[in-house]
Amino acid sequence: MSTGIKRAPGRELLSALETVPDLYLILSPDLLILTASDAYLAATFTTRSQITGRHVFDVFPDNPATREAKAVANLRASLQNVLETKKPHRMVRQHYDVPDGSGGFVEKYWLPVNTPVLDEQGDVWYIIHKVEDVTDLARRATDKYLALLNSMDEGFCILQMLFDEEQKPVDYRFIEINPAFEDQTGMKNTLGRTASELVPDLEPFWFDIYGRVALTGESTHFENFAGPMGRWFDVYAFRIGEPDERHVALFFKNITDRKHTEEALRHSEERFRRMVDAVPESMWITDATGNIEFLNQQWYDYCGVSDKQETAADVAVRFLHPEDGPKVMAAFSKAMQTGLPFEVEQRNRSASGEYRWFLNRANPYRDLKTGEIINWFGVGVDIHDRKLAEQALQEADRRKNEFLALLAHELRNPLSTLHNLLLILKMTGGADESLKLETAIDMMNREVQQLVRLVDDLLDVSRISHGKTHLRRQRLDLTELVKLAVEAARPLVERGKRRLSLSLPAEPLYLDGDATRLTQVVRNLLGNAAKFTRNEGQMAISLERDGQNARLRVADNGIGIPPDELDRIFNMFVQVDASRARTQEGLGLGLTLVKELVELHGGRVAAYSAGVDAGSTFTVYLPLLPE
Ligand code: ADP
Repeated sequence: MSTGIKRAPGRELLSALETVPDLYLILSPDLLILTASDAYLAATFTTRSQITGRHVFDVFPDNPATREAKAVANLRASLQNVLETKKPHRMVRQHYDVPDGSGGFVEKYWLPVNTPVLDEQGDVWYIIHKVEDVTDLARRATDKYLALLNSMDEGFCILQMLFDEEQKPVDYRFIEINPAFEDQTGMKNTLGRTASELVPDLEPFWFDIYGRVALTGESTHFENFAGPMGRWFDVYAFRIGEPDERHVALFFKNITDRKHTEEALRHSEERFRRMVDAVPESMWITDATGNIEFLNQQWYDYCGVSDKQETAADVAVRFLHPEDGPKVMAAFSKAMQTGLPFEVEQRNRSASGEYRWFLNRANPYRDLKTGEIINWFGVGVDIHDRKLAEQALQEADRRKNEFLALLAHELRNPLSTLHNLLLILKMTGGADESLKLETAIDMMNREVQQLVRLVDDLLDVSRISHGKTHLRRQRLDLTELVKLAVEAARPLVERGKRRLSLSLPAEPLYLDGDATRLTQVVRNLLGNAAKFTRNEGQMAISLERDGQNARLRVADNGIGIPPDELDRIFNMFVQVDASRARTQEGLGLGLTLVKELVELHGGRVAAYSAGVDAGSTFTVYLPLLPE
């Protein structure tokens, strides 16, 4: 490397450089000033004789008034780089104030380029330090940024980060703030003071995050709550200046109000959600085309699914009763076309596989501006029990109508027989051989008895179902009662070679009962056994003690009862397969009476049959008096 100025550029060359209108400083490799252009001298308030031969940093020291002045260090580093690499080096804009000649400094901003000129040996012969004076530009730019920062609503500040010996960030000092700063932070007189002075209990979070920015140079954007200040901030933090300055700039905003609004919204949403999940109805929301967006907890609980990615059509396929699917989809499609609310009754399958009736109602929710449907809001109400009750009512109504027809039929037969007999008697005066008076009276008596029995049964059922029947109770022997009732009925039920066997206990069985009513029970069961047994059929009656109860069995080997009818036959007006029974008299009231009377005595009755043509057995349990 060339040293000294023994091979300094000739005067001629230097003179040529001096007159160039640009700003030049010619430096030896030792950084002594060889000369400067006239323009440079003018820009730095110097004369050639003042500076020639002197060390550049003696002439141009840092301005001690400029905070953290770096100009000398930066230029030294650049020149060193040029000497080492022998290549030009362009520096970024430098704040490098120059002495004003009277002990002060003038603020100056420069754009320098340092270019080496090499001698024949390839060593650095001299360095051309060319600068552009950008002070005006810089000042204007700075003024613009300042104007911007000062007019912003957002808070702005520059922090000087403070670290302990272990490079742990422990505090920071506010070294610049904009006017909005106080408004955003609610703090006054902050400039030059530290965070720990201003907000003693500030969370370590703030030191850590800004410390990291200062150390790594990585900017960050975050939202956080400053507890001791009671405020939420949205902060953008970035490193500013040279890394070792540890300066961090912040753009920030107090977002406490927004956070509170968000919080309130979240609460209200949460409340709504809990309410919607707590109601017993199944609620749903779809988009305009039926894609499911929301189902409440009840829905999931009922269907036993957790998969929310379903369209209404999928749900229809998976959970609707196959018979209801098309109806529901048609209602929904029509609603989507017309934009009108819809209501449909449907059966949904539960997690356990049972179908229950729901009333599914939905309303469109529209965009306020365009009126377009955005969502469908639906509620499914379980109407299963109501639906069953309705169906039962319909069934009861149907049975009643059938009963009235049957009743008319049952009444007409004896009445028309009576009518005919009366006509004949009127014509013959009872003197004709073909119909003797006595026979006619017997026949008419039978028909009248039949009518009386029908009307009695009707009155009994009506009284019992209105709770108006009172038992005339007394201590009585059931063994004796059954024996008498069976013997009285025997001639009647043993028609057509039917056989009736009777098995009674040797002892009396005492209970507290109404003899007439209990006789009616035995007679009805026996009557049915005979009625539903063909000629030569068998009937068996047995009575025995069963613990605290008497057990009376009336069995036959007749037409039997289909299993699914066993429970129904005790209902009013019920007759199994009307066409089978039509040949027989009766109104479907006998078993209703039996059941009600037995229950009035505190007992119960059950029917058993192995099926059609397998015979039937009716068993009555009646509580006995304690022995
Ligand atoms: P009714 O005998 O007047 O029709 P009930 O109430 O006594 O009315 O009986 C109801 C129905 O139960 C009968 O119509 C018949 O279908 C059936 N039933 C009753 N007893 C028997 C029986 N012993 N064998 C077969 N079916 C019976």
